[in-house]
Amino acid sequence: MPLTKEQALKEYFGYDSFRPQQAEIIDTVLRGEDCLVLMPTGGGKSVCYQVPALLQEGLTVVISPLIALMKDQVEALRANGIEAAYLNSSLSSSEQDSVFWKAKLGELKLLYVAPERLFSGNTMEHFKQWNVRLFAVDEAHCISSWGHDFRPEYRQLSSLKDHFPGIPVIALTATADRVTRRDILGQLGVKSAPTFVASFDRPNLSLTVLPSRKRLPQIEQFLKKHPNQPGIIYCLSRKTTETVAASLQSRDFRAECYHAGLPAAQRSRVQERFLNDDIQIIVATIAFGMGIDKSNVRWVIHYNLPPNVESFYQEIGRAGRDGAPADTVLFYGYQDIIMRQDMIMNSEQSAEQKELLQAKLNRMKQYAEADLCRRRILLSYFNEAVEKDCGNCDVCQNPRTRFDGTLLAQKALSGIARTGERVAMGMLIDILRGSRNRAVLDRGYDRLPTFGVGRDQRGDEWAEYLSQMLNSGVMDIAYDEAHSFKLNALSWQILKEGKKIELVKFIPLAERKAREEELIPKEKPKQEIIRDALFEQLRLLRKQMADALNVPPYVIFSDKTIAEMAQKRPVSEAQMLDVSGVGAEKYRRYGEAFVQEIVKFAKENTKPGTRVVKGMTYLMTHELYEKGFTLDDIAQQRGLTTSTVVAHLVKLRDEGHDIQLRPLISDRTYTEVLAAADEMNFKPGEPLAPLFELLGERIEYGMIRLALAIREGA
Ligand code: ADP
Ligand code: ZN
Repeated sequence: MPLTKEQALKEYFGYDSFRPQQAEIIDTVLRGEDCLVLMPTGGGKSVCYQVPALLQEGLTVVISPLIALMKDQVEALRANGIEAAYLNSSLSSSEQDSVFWKAKLGELKLLYVAPERLFSGNTMEHFKQWNVRLFAVDEAHCISSWGHDFRPEYRQLSSLKDHFPGIPVIALTATADRVTRRDILGQLGVKSAPTFVASFDRPNLSLTVLPSRKRLPQIEQFLKKHPNQPGIIYCLSRKTTETVAASLQSRDFRAECYHAGLPAAQRSRVQERFLNDDIQIIVATIAFGMGIDKSNVRWVIHYNLPPNVESFYQEIGRAGRDGAPADTVLFYGYQDIIMRQDMIMNSEQSAEQKELLQAKLNRMKQYAEADLCRRRILLSYFNEAVEKDCGNCDVCQNPRTRFDGTLLAQKALSGIARTGERVAMGMLIDILRGSRNRAVLDRGYDRLPTFGVGRDQRGDEWAEYLSQMLNSGVMDIAYDEAHSFKLNALSWQILKEGKKIELVKFIPLAERKAREEELIPKEKPKQEIIRDALFEQLRLLRKQMADALNVPPYVIFSDKTIAEMAQKRPVSEAQMLDVSGVGAEKYRRYGEAFVQEIVKFAKENTKPGTRVVKGMTYLMTHELYEKGFTLDDIAQQRGLTTSTVVAHLVKLRDEGHDIQLRPLISDRTYTEVLAAADEMNFKPGEPLAPLFELLGERIEYGMIRLALAIREGA
């Protein structure tokens, strides 16, 4: 019986249900029709062509520009028991021959190919012999010069349909904009193919914006709350990546920098070590990330403001691809806007282009300055309406209040006016707060009527409000005159005519609520401490296995999967297969080792008298035993064999629990087994099969084991 698509999802990937759109897309492909799939990074695009590949005869060819990724993708498929290979320039000719043979013999379900390989040599001829049934074009926006990552070699794909008119093409991308979308379909020659658009929401990503003053201490604070969690810090310049990385290293964090100016060997080593969880933190320019499929990136921090929402969303999208909670932080201050604006003005672009870039920057600014749910703003950018506030962004958690800021603005503006528009933020704050420091006194600013009129506000409050004023155009800033503030038309309206302006109430960092678990550093409940400890133990096991097998840890199991194991503590095959992300092949390869680890952990935590781990398999058995159930009853209720139940009870007894084994077996069976054991001079640890046979195969293994255990323990 052929598998259904649901069964294939469970069997090979260990997932119980499809995400929205996946099933429809798979059906379309299986009907032999072309389509375009738009899903955010981490949305689950691969399943859309991998499941069809498994369900049909023949070969699925995946065209991907990300050569560096192919090895990992193939590795991940193999770990799920799916035959896959790749063809790209990194293969030696004998490796390539072996791929050709496998394809020819029909031993491959999926073949990853770099676009330039597709049309070189006689690859096309081979495809015709290999029974290719589906082409998947990954990162399909690369075919369009409208997209943000045009690759000329992708243009050749437009002849794919000429070569293989009857074979369906599924194109996949995370780029949403309509022009690019239409262009992809046109270029691929499948103009009328349906487009499936999945939601761009990534609810597991928390969204936070923090003021960009004192970023390093804030990062340090953040890292302390996220020990061992892999993450990326994006910076604008190469220099910044180096200084931030150095500063983190000096504080004993496992951080490395990454930018295009480093030697290639060093870059690939850093990347490799990050994938393998040997480095916790990458401090990088945007050169890092494209082609990184690491599913357990737990956070992304933007040290500087990205130029537009698309880039921002793509970069934060690299966090939490496994679906487990992940955090994103954007540092934001008025200097970032100025810097970005200068970059646009000084660029070689046409006036029209500059306008477009400026408009995109404004949308980014809107996100950063939001005083309503940030997710709403992001998703509205992708044309998605959202019904309610997300509850997982800093604005939702710290609702903003607005107040009449006219008086504050007048104080600040008057300070600027009376100093001849020569002061920058720091000095203005000193004047407003009445600080008698050297610089203030030297210039005689202490004699100004504005001196000290802003004493009621703290320094960091003023800094926040001045940033807000700048951002809403209350005054200007002259970047080229040591950042001094300048008055503009709006400033004068506020000063002279009392024009009203609103500000958003400042909440000091220390008083802000963070993500739920960080709300108050309260004592964690015992269950949670245990869960976290087990997670850590399973993570280490995964790391050891990954190192031994020379694959990245997330290829073995995702963070989400081991988190679920730590939560549910599966100890049988059936329970293990119930965990999302554990398919049949994964179980066969790694399942037993993880069960052992969980059992080991449970044992360490179930010493008599310390019944910490509730719900553990032994204790469940123990509980039923104490209630007086028979072996068969316990076995039935727990879905275990009697033999396993006996093994549990023996173990519990050996660990000092008060277990009376003798009443569990009838006198007759007991004496019969022992007599047979004596007859064949049976020694503990020997296989039971001969004894089972000698007893005429009438007595269950569980009972034999029990009788022997009683004799040994006596
Ligand atoms: P992308 O769209 O970025 O290519 P992937 O295909 O890598 O995303 O999928 C992201 C993650 O989601 C992977 O870990 C994948 O195994 C997982 N995933 C995909 N489909 C499902 C599903 N139906 N249920 C649970 N997890 C899924
Ligand atoms: Zn929100």
